[in-house]
Amino acid sequence: MSSITFKNLNKTYPNGFISVKDVSLYIEDGEFATFHGPSGCGKSTILRMVGGLEDITSGEIYLGEVLLNEVLPKDRRLAMAFQNYALYPPLNVYENIGLGLTLRDFPHNIIDSRVKAAAEFLEIPSILDKRIRSISEAEKQKTALARAIACHPEVFLVDEDFSRGNAHRHAEMLHDILRINKELKITTLYITNDYQEAIRLNKKIIFIKDGEIISTEEPAL
Ligand code: ADP
Ligand code: MG
Repeated sequence: MSSITFKNLNKTYPNGFISVKDVSLYIEDGEFATFHGPSGCGKSTILRMVGGLEDITSGEIYLGEVLLNEVLPKDRRLAMAFQNYALYPPLNVYENIGLGLTLRDFPHNIIDSRVKAAAEFLEIPSILDKRIRSISEAEKQKTALARAIACHPEVFLVDEDFSRGNAHRHAEMLHDILRINKELKITTLYITNDYQEAIRLNKKIIFIKDGEIISTEEPAL
């Protein structure tokens, strides 16, 4: 079960700033949850605590029945899509997609089949042997998404800085993450500070302000 439960989650940064206040929320297995709120309201902090990039000050985060607070970040079955795609230029596309699996010592045959399946899903099988420097921005974005799904995560975390600046690429990214959520049934937590986009998506929306949930809306039927 890949549901996410937040119980009275709080984050106080070392300088004393309270960035997340008493957040309690349930996201169903396979659900697509949109976090929306103004810049600085605590959205990234929440995702970073799920991903283990930020300590939890108090409260609990569960993945299914498992208390994530006690699971090392590297052992969490999560994929994250953050800034700049975080691709590794010395490696080619194939090696970048397989990087998470290589680091976890997966056998070569498994890495090979997962990299190829992920590349098929993102429609980039023809660029597998290309260098990162030689591919387009659109292909970099798809390579980063392929790497995320190659790890077979239970939850996918997508922050808004993943695809910023270019409307066409942003639309393509949204299309791809909606497909990943729907077809691979990966629970997805998606951040946007674009109100129109949040509404248009018509998924669960969690409205955040000053670190708190101010309302939650279920999709209209
Ligand atoms: P959002 O993603 O919604 O724009 P963030 O989660 O990045 O917001 O930040 C929430 C608040 O916490 C902001 O006011 C930000 O300045 C503050 N903040 C973020 N990181 C730190 C940090 N390391 N130390 C102190 N304050 C921080
Ligand atoms: Mg942010």
